[in-house]
Amino acid sequence: TEATFARIAKVDGDVQAFLTTTEEEAFAKAEQLDNQPNAERGPLFGLPIGIKDNIVTKGIVTTCGSKMLENFVPVYDATVVEKVNDAGMVTVGKLNMDEFAMGSTTERSAFKQTHNPWNLAHVPGGSSGGPAAAVAAGEVLFSLGTDTGGSVRQPAAFCGVVGMKPTYGRVSRSGLVAYGSSLDQIGPITRNVEDNALLLSAIAGVDRRDSSSSSLAVPDFGAALTGDVKNLKIAVPKEYLGEGVAKEVKDAVIEALKVLESLGAKWEEVSLPHLKYASPAYYVIATGEASSNLARFDGIRYGYRPVDAKNLEEIYLRSRSEGFGEEVKKRILYGTYALSADHYDDLYVKAMKIRTLIAQDFAKVFENYDVVIGPSSATPAYKIGHLLNNPLTLYANDVLTVPVNLAGLPAISVPCGFTEGLPIGMQIIGKHFDESMLYKIAHAFE
Ligand code: GLN
Repeated sequence: TEATFARIAKVDGDVQAFLTTTEEEAFAKAEQLDNQPNAERGPLFGLPIGIKDNIVTKGIVTTCGSKMLENFVPVYDATVVEKVNDAGMVTVGKLNMDEFAMGSTTERSAFKQTHNPWNLAHVPGGSSGGPAAAVAAGEVLFSLGTDTGGSVRQPAAFCGVVGMKPTYGRVSRSGLVAYGSSLDQIGPITRNVEDNALLLSAIAGVDRRDSSSSSLAVPDFGAALTGDVKNLKIAVPKEYLGEGVAKEVKDAVIEALKVLESLGAKWEEVSLPHLKYASPAYYVIATGEASSNLARFDGIRYGYRPVDAKNLEEIYLRSRSEGFGEEVKKRILYGTYALSADHYDDLYVKAMKIRTLIAQDFAKVFENYDVVIGPSSATPAYKIGHLLNNPLTLYANDVLTVPVNLAGLPAISVPCGFTEGLPIGMQIIGKHFDESMLYKIAHAFE
């Protein structure tokens, strides 16, 4: 814990990953752990962890990267926070993110810009830019991010670390501030695959506070790391290596496939024909759900409220106009439009049909293959500011990650190369609840 805070003091001035650090609580916990008898010590005993700031922490401000929640102090811990505590981990602080997890660069945080530790002029990705950068910069070895459409995997890829988006339902969402409830999952970000498997084992499992959490038994994910990938069948969708994917990224992924081949796995090209509709469908569904989820921020129950508002109407209006940033307001408008009586059928219903088609595309591939592999992102990390005013390009660039959320599948991003000093990430996508297979392959390759 001391080493962690020393490292944060040394590098976070440049990286800017943390929104809040919790020295006092962390040292109290560490001291308490020092007195714990050996027999009671959990598998992650004494290890510091950072938590994305949309996961609620009792008594510790939880902002969601938004002015709306700048002073919001939750009265309970998210289930995952209870679980990392029970595993003996020490929470050292809360990590920066795009406001309400809407973004891919962490440029949409209301508070600060997190920088990519490999090159400070570049973004760390997003929306879990803080969690990925903190791990890449060696501030913590473990963090928790959240992934609605790629927000664990894409920043993991941009920062050269390992990020897992578990199967929908594998990890409780209780205490995660909702963005798109049918898409959101909390996932571990770490420097290597083994750490990642240990952390997922600690946070997974059914929770009576989240009715969408699965009661399937949680395997010991660490036990999957056998190194044996002989005869495993890998599908590589041609759309994942198609137009728009940078040549260096394609080359790195193909090199990785060759490594897996040399270890005895087999790979073939397949097609996911509906992939081109994934981003538009995702943005209709995610913003629709967000417009409903964010209705609770009304200036009455939570968060920001202008002190001089004169009546109820003005409280609602000004709390939301002044409390939310531009990107969030834009998405609430999109989502409200998509769910409105006039547009529901041609936008929301159509998007839900595409969601089914995409899930079916994957299901068909999984009849004959163990996993699907492709890049986590079409390019390495962008320069800060480069795409800030180009939202359509940013939305389109989510095409390789959002299909996984639409289908509820698990996927892990592992580093597979570098170009001009910036990391490249490869994504391994699996069958529902088959995270063990993803860890096995990622570990063998790593
Ligand atoms: N970039 C996507 C979005 O802006 C994904 C975000 C996420 O997974 N939270 O919605």
